[in-house]
Amino acid sequence: MRLMFTDYAVIKPKSSITLVICTSVWLALFGNLALWKSFIAVPEISGFHGLLFGLAFALVIASLVAALLFIFSWRWTLKPAITVLLLLAAFSTYYMLMYGVVVNTSMVLNVFQTDYKEARDQMSWGLLITVILIAILPAIWIWQQPMIRLGFMQQLTRNISFFAISFLVALGTLQLVFQDFASLMKSHTEMRYQINPLNSLYGVLRLTVLADRVSKGPPQPLGIDASITHGKSGEDQRPPLLVFVLGETARSQNFSLNGYSRLTNPSLAREDVTSFTRVKSCGTSTAESVPCMFSHLGRADFLNRENEFENMLDVLQHAGYAVLWIDNQSGCKAQCDRIPNINTSNLKIPTHCKTGECRDTVMLERIDDEISKLPIDRRMRGTVVVLHQMGSHGPAYFKRTPDEFKEFKPECADASLSQCNRDEIVNAYDNTILFTDYFLSRVIGWLKTQEKTNVTAMLYVSDHGESLGEKNMYLHGLPYSVAPPEQTTVPMITWLSPGFEKFSNVSTRCLQTHRDKPLSHDNLFHSVLGLMRVKTSVYQHDLNFFAACENR
Ligand SMILES: [Zn+2]
Repeated sequence: MRLMFTDYAVIKPKSSITLVICTSVWLALFGNLALWKSFIAVPEISGFHGLLFGLAFALVIASLVAALLFIFSWRWTLKPAITVLLLLAAFSTYYMLMYGVVVNTSMVLNVFQTDYKEARDQMSWGLLITVILIAILPAIWIWQQPMIRLGFMQQLTRNISFFAISFLVALGTLQLVFQDFASLMKSHTEMRYQINPLNSLYGVLRLTVLADRVSKGPPQPLGIDASITHGKSGEDQRPPLLVFVLGETARSQNFSLNGYSRLTNPSLAREDVTSFTRVKSCGTSTAESVPCMFSHLGRADFLNRENEFENMLDVLQHAGYAVLWIDNQSGCKAQCDRIPNINTSNLKIPTHCKTGECRDTVMLERIDDEISKLPIDRRMRGTVVVLHQMGSHGPAYFKRTPDEFKEFKPECADASLSQCNRDEIVNAYDNTILFTDYFLSRVIGWLKTQEKTNVTAMLYVSDHGESLGEKNMYLHGLPYSVAPPEQTTVPMITWLSPGFEKFSNVSTRCLQTHRDKPLSHDNLFHSVLGLMRVKTSVYQHDLNFFAACENR
């Protein structure tokens, strides 16, 4: 890599054209190491034909990058534009090589929504070295080159001509290898998200310019006709209290309740819970899944929506319930905008927040106080509390568990996973599931203490799963169409107190006989409304998975 760099350093560019060409070639080759790694691994591509196809593919990328850069080829904008592209390519290359992820719209969205703490988790020497080699060193060279001054018209003519030439070279070359290219993109869809830095730019465009499909402005009201249907007279007069635990990065297959060979759920195993084994997530990332989970639309319609709508929590509030969101993560992704909410992740409570990050149990420390602030007339009708976990958020799994929960050893203690073998990574991950198991049993324990005044229930669902080295993939966020089941099969667990069973007419005994039924995040909105006996025109009975066990 260094040899290559010195070779480049002897070139003395005469004009912006040389800078653009050097950058484009550099990005096509070294900014796309992850793409070339996948390319070489494709069995159909081999021999001289494969080499020619690879060169043509690289030429298409280089020409497209050049075309893009010629738009910015002005005295004050070219070097900044080159720097941005180099940095985008370097960061993406690192994550793609390291974790087998790809850069698509939801990945870009996640980067925008990542808070400082999450970013700090992902810093590593490997990342630093990749960014220095692929972006910083070439950028230093670029910034040292003089730019020849041209008149406005001369520069404009030159930019337009070279933009056109680059574009035509890209099109022409693509034409030559179109058959190979089309079949490669069809059989290896994920590779189109590996083309640097066009993938990141496309992601940013989709989120900004092309995102106008979903109209801006306040969300459309939803379920304003909602009301609570009351039980027969003489029934238990205690109002319902539901805790909805929104899990993070928990995958179904690592729960011993779902058949995992390691005992990761010792605490929940002692409670009368139902663990559903075949629940599909709406997306493969927090930013994608969370808004979809609370929506009435279901995955397909949610992706094609033209408006934002109010969500499940708004409807519960319209029905008259007290609703509260407690967040121990990076925020509620606009789902708690119209309901009381607090964030506990930055509290300084010593027993829960020793390492600068608060354990999920901190939410139970605050729950009584926060509920007591909700309007009493609403609480008399019933309460729904969302607890948004930090859960198994990676790659720094080891940071999510206190020492007493590090049952599976040795544990990977490297924030980037690069220094660990797969067993150590799985150990660290399983420890987070063990801690979530404890946390959920604490939630149930707390609910039992509320039984004097309320009938209580818990519903736990994770937002998406996680890859832990299967097919060399780590983390999550793959485009849904190519995502492996590890990233899309999530745990869902219910616990209903006997009083709540009477209130909802749903029995745990019956639910347990339905635990292997295929379900998805699409069911959540309607199931929670059904469980809480909310009557509204937006409720769909056939999507309520509790309905099969209702005996009204
Ligand atoms: Zn998530």
